[in-house]
Amino acid sequence: MNVVLLAVAVVAVAAVLIHLLRTAGVALWRSRGERVINCPETQESAAVHLDAKHAAAAALRGKQELQLSDCTRWPQRAGCGQECLAQIEDAPDGCLVTRILAAWYEGKACALCGREFGRVDWSTNKPAILDAERRTWEWRELPAVEIPEILRTHQPVCWDCHIIESLIRKHPDRVTDRT
Ligand code: SF4
Ligand SMILES: [Zn+2]
Repeated sequence: MNVVLLAVAVVAVAAVLIHLLRTAGVALWRSRGERVINCPETQESAAVHLDAKHAAAAALRGKQELQLSDCTRWPQRAGCGQECLAQIEDAPDGCLVTRILAAWYEGKACALCGREFGRVDWSTNKPAILDAERRTWEWRELPAVEIPEILRTHQPVCWDCHIIESLIRKHPDRVTDRT
C-alpha cells in the first residue's frame, strides 16, 4: 500500500477513535451525580442515579439513551417504567442535586452571619443548612430524597458558621461566650 494512503488511513482511524472516546467521555460526564426527581407513581421525591455505562455505550452507537442505575424506591419498585427519566431530560439542571442546591443558595445570605453566598464551591467551604432547633447540617449528612422538603423548611448557613455552631454543640465546655 502506498505510504501516503496508509498514513491517511491511520489518521482517519485515529480521528474516528478519538471522536468515539470523546463522545463516550461526554456521556459519562453528563451521567454523573445524584439527582432528585418527583416519582410519577407516588408524587413524592426520590433520589436516582443515571447508568453511566449504558449512556456511554449508547453514545458509542451514536445514540442518546438514558437509563437509571438506582433509585431510592428500589428494590421494591425495581422494574418500574422509569417514567421519571422525562423530568431529567426536560430539566435545564438535569435534576442534579449540586445544581439544585447551587441555585437555591444563589442570592441568599447566611442566616447566622448575614454574609451573602456567592458562587457555591462544592470542593471547599460548602454551605450548610440550619434547622428549627438551630442545628446545622452538611448536605452529605442528609438524604438527597429529603432535599425538596429541607429547602422549604430550613435556612442557609455558610461554612464558617456551620463549623462554629458544630463546635459549640459538640464541645460546649470548650467554648467561652464573650458577647
Ligand atoms: S425509577 Fe421508577 S420508582 Fe424510581 S422514581 Fe423513577 S418512576 Fe419512580
Ligand atoms: Zn455565616
